Amino acid sequence: MLRGLIWAGHVGWILFLTLLTQLGGLAWLIALRFRQRVLVFLLVYAALWGAALQIAPFFGRVALPCFGETLRAQSVFYCVTMRHFVTPEMADVAQIAADKVAQEYPGTQTLYLDGNLPFWEGFPLIPHLSHDDGEKLDFAFFYRDAQGYLPGQTRSPIGYFAFETLEAKQCPDAWPTMRWSLTPLQPLWSDFEVDRARTRALTQALLNDPRVSKLFLEPPLAKDLGLSDEKLRFQGCRAARHDDHLHLQL
Ligand SMILES: [Zn+2]
Repeated sequence: MLRGLIWAGHVGWILFLTLLTQLGGLAWLIALRFRQRVLVFLLVYAALWGAALQIAPFFGRVALPCFGETLRAQSVFYCVTMRHFVTPEMADVAQIAADKVAQEYPGTQTLYLDGNLPFWEGFPLIPHLSHDDGEKLDFAFFYRDAQGYLPGQTRSPIGYFAFETLEAKQCPDAWPTMRWSLTPLQPLWSDFEVDRARTRALTQALLNDPRVSKLFLEPPLAKDLGLSDEKLRFQGCRAARHDDHLHLQL
C-alpha cells in the first residue's frame, strides 16, 4: 500500500516536471535508480539542459539569451526550466525589437517571459496552451517609479499577474473564462507604474516587423499607450488577460 503510494507520488512528480520543463521528468526517472537521488537529478538535469541547447536547433528551436545586454529573461526561472526556446525567426524578431528600444532609450533591458519548450511541435507550455510551436513569446511591461525607469524590474516576481486596472468592463462576469483577476495577490506587488514610453516603443517595434502576425494587449491599455494597428488584438473573453504582459506571435 505504502509502496503504491510512493510510486504514485513519483509518477505525479514526473508528470509535473515534464509539463513544467519537458525534460525534468526524464531526469527524475533516471535519478530514481540512484541512492543520491536529488544530486543525481540535478546533475542529469544540468546535462539535459546543456544538451537541449545544442540539439534543439536541429529541430527548429533556439534558446533566447538568458542574460543578454538588451534582451534577457525576466527571471532565471525561465532559462532554468527551458521555457525560453523559440524559432530562430522569433529570436531574431525579439532581438531586433529589443535593440531598437535600447537605441531609443539607452540602457533599456527588454525582458521576456514564457516562450516555448525546446522540442516537439504541439507540446503546450502550461498554462499557455498556444505556446506550442516556437512562434509565441511573452514580454514583460517596462516599469518606473518616481525616480524613473527601473531596469530589469517588474511588479510581480515572475512578470505575470500584476494587472493594470485601466480595464473598463471588457467581458461579462459569468462566462467560462481564463480571465483571472487574482485579486488577493494584487496588493502584494510593487506599485511601480508601467513605463509607457518604453512599452509603447517595444510594442511599436514588434508591430513594425512584417514577420509578426499578432500581438495581444488589452484594448484600454493599447489605447492609453496611443497604439492602434490591425495586428494589435484583443484575445477575447475566454483567454487570459493581457494587461500584465504582451503576447507576440509570428
Ligand atoms: Zn503568451
